[in-house]
Amino acid sequence: MMADFWKDTVKCPICGNEFMFSKVSSQAIKVKERDIDLKPIYKGVNPLKYSLITCPHCYFTFNEKDAENIKNEIKELHFSKIQDFLKTLSEKDMKGLDNYDTKDLDFYKKQIVIASEIYSILEKPFEVSRLLLKLSWVYREENDEKRELKILNNILKINNKFYESADNDRETIFLLFYDSYINYRLGKKEEAAKNIERLVRNYSKTKSPYIKAAKELRGELK
Ligand SMILES: [Zn+2]
Repeated sequence: MMADFWKDTVKCPICGNEFMFSKVSSQAIKVKERDIDLKPIYKGVNPLKYSLITCPHCYFTFNEKDAENIKNEIKELHFSKIQDFLKTLSEKDMKGLDNYDTKDLDFYKKQIVIASEIYSILEKPFEVSRLLLKLSWVYREENDEKRELKILNNILKINNKFYESADNDRETIFLLFYDSYINYRLGKKEEAAKNIERLVRNYSKTKSPYIKAAKELRGELK
């Protein structure tokens, strides 16, 4: 049997420190089912929990998938802003720092919050939305609807604020879909229906799984 995790190393793009982290092997990722917003429910290991890594030296926190490219996204101006932000994190804040398979959920939540701050400095609002979505999913799993809805509401605000800067179908579909879904969750059915119509009308030819999900969501709104 293959192990669920393997170890890799990465060089921190901010301080240059090299550190190790656990990576989930692709064979260990099994989606059992998905919620109506496509939130995956995994059988066994939840790979989302290991999708973020934190430099143990300077606390820079980022998506593991960005490890290769994030250095090119950090311009001079971002660099000092990120350093200023990282300086505000104390050792106590970073209690539980763990990049291995032993990571606990509290530290994963902390990583999401820190990474959203960093991607916001990097002017990647939709990445911030995707990160916050992961946080809302943790709250959903914990049946903490109050916190989940609060986060969803924040995502809606970010998406609306930056809607004009979506520059490809993938982003626009993401925005329209979550706009619909979040409005649905907030009980604003008309608002939700409007965006679903737009999504289905304009993007039904794309192979995006969100289109199929949108049609299902439309069924829920009736
Ligand atoms: Zn570092």
